[in-house]
Amino acid sequence: MRNLLANTAQRLWFKDLDSRIIFVSSAFAEGLTPGVSAADLVGKTDFDIFGEDHARAAYEDEQRIIATGEPLVDKVEREDFRDRPDAWVATTKLPLRDEAGRIVGTFGFSRDVTAQRRAEEALLYQAFHDPLTGLANRAALVDRLAQSLIALERQPGRLGLVYLDLDHFKPVNDHFGHEAGDRLLVEVARRLQRLARRADTVARLGGDEFVLLCPSLHEDDDLRLVADRVLAAVAEPFVDEGRDLSVTGSVGIVSSSDPGADAGALIEDADVAMYEAKAAGRNRFKVFDASQRDRAVASHELEVELRGALERGELFLVYQPLFSLTDRSLTGAEALLRWRHPERGVVQPSEFVPLAEERGLIGAIGAFVLDESCRQLAAWERYRGWPREFTMAVNVSGRQLSDPGLAEQVARTLWRHRIEPSRLCLEVTETAMLGQSRDVAELLSSLSRLGVRIALDDFGTGYATLAHLQRLRVDVLKIDRSFIEQLGRSPRDTEIVAAVTAMAHALGMSVVAEGVETAGQLEAVASLACDRAQGYLLARPMPADSLVALQHSLRRRAGARP
Ligand code: C2E
Ligand code: MG
Ligand code: MG
Repeated sequence: MRNLLANTAQRLWFKDLDSRIIFVSSAFAEGLTPGVSAADLVGKTDFDIFGEDHARAAYEDEQRIIATGEPLVDKVEREDFRDRPDAWVATTKLPLRDEAGRIVGTFGFSRDVTAQRRAEEALLYQAFHDPLTGLANRAALVDRLAQSLIALERQPGRLGLVYLDLDHFKPVNDHFGHEAGDRLLVEVARRLQRLARRADTVARLGGDEFVLLCPSLHEDDDLRLVADRVLAAVAEPFVDEGRDLSVTGSVGIVSSSDPGADAGALIEDADVAMYEAKAAGRNRFKVFDASQRDRAVASHELEVELRGALERGELFLVYQPLFSLTDRSLTGAEALLRWRHPERGVVQPSEFVPLAEERGLIGAIGAFVLDESCRQLAAWERYRGWPREFTMAVNVSGRQLSDPGLAEQVARTLWRHRIEPSRLCLEVTETAMLGQSRDVAELLSSLSRLGVRIALDDFGTGYATLAHLQRLRVDVLKIDRSFIEQLGRSPRDTEIVAAVTAMAHALGMSVVAEGVETAGQLEAVASLACDRAQGYLLARPMPADSLVALQHSLRRRAGARP
């Protein structure tokens, strides 16, 4: 038996009533210091082998076992071997009895659980940290926030959350690659940590969303100043491998002094405020108030309804005619989206297109608009005497432009309806065109190669310059309604329209005046050499049938002329 015990791979030992070693297995001795044999250890105590704290704890455990007869099972403890300061063992200790059943000492064995312990620690770390930045993750944030709320019970005060979302982070990823995107995120994490106080928690919730938790704000601490510092830190230039990847952020802040508040709900509130900051134009912060939540709920409801709207066939198109300013003939129409909502009636695109863009629904909706407008165009073209140069204008949102499959989608739709590419004109706004320049330029040129026309919509409201236009292969310039409105009233706007028209012509583009509402405006745009006009004065957006009727009456009138 002694032989067996001595040679087992288990680390076992027997001790007397004073916790002096009577016997240890050789595995036990080898686990300590190389060169020490089992025999060397007989008569020693833990105080000779281990550090003070461990030895004392072991001694106390053993004395308790001797006093009570109760075993100690699988106690996980740090065993500070002199040369392995960070070893962990699971120890079982039992009373050692003689033949008469009297306790004469203790015996036990221990397993090295260091590897297991390390794995557990790593798991624990992973469970509460974001692997990319090393910041706290959502679970850890919720946990610390809940703790901070509980602390408010003991010590009344106020805590704050600063919720940050980077502006236009996706294009960084798309254009410069995920590694560059990751480096940007790591840099943002570093900057946030630098400005955080020691008690603060900086967390990354995934993607490009970060939260700073300030667990105890002083009386005169202003969370808005913190938000400003966060915005400034994010906006600092970031150059990565010689490329400028600088971004801005949108921030929502919320504070609470209510220990009964729910951690998850507070984070959501900050998120809602952040969305308000985005909607207000980004690179700014908004303070949460409850009405924002109502709006968020309303927009969520609308989103849910919009998701079903396509399937239920509630989306439809109306068409606004475009007229030539030289002979007043019908030259085309712009397809404009409408939503026949079961309760609200017809909803205008301004109320749901931005939402569709934000919530990733614009792809499916855009595909519907493209298909439906092309189907309609093909149907019109079958009418006898339909204008041969008639062009269908279709609005394309910026989000659709970031889909590299758009050119192919357009090509397939044209083919399906047997439409000559030059009969289709895609309208893109300035901001959409310039936002993500490189890929968009590529996409636009492949659309051009297809033969599709490109119009720059709402020209004058963004930052496009004529130099951009030349590079981006724009065929048609649509001068925004805001300029047309001022014609005759503001000499400056009149000059701008004249100059833009002249330069557009020089670059080989044609010019459309949008939103012509009065006879005076019509006269003005004609005299300023715009090519075509669109507006309520000439015709409002209308159903497809009405446009056919309009065309017939135009033809009759033209035919009646001598
Ligand atoms: P937009 O492309 O600039 O379209 C012209 C807008 O001006 C239309 O508003 C039209 O009804 C309006 N309009 C035309 N003439 C006049 C006028 O004389 N006076 C005034 N005050 N307004 C006039 P609508 O249909 O409400 O569309 C608004 C915007 O929604 C469009 O601006 C476009 O950016 C977007 N949109 C419409 N349909 C679609 C679509 O199918 N897809 C996408 N992505 N966006 C769309
Ligand atoms: Mg348009
Ligand atoms: Mg427009």
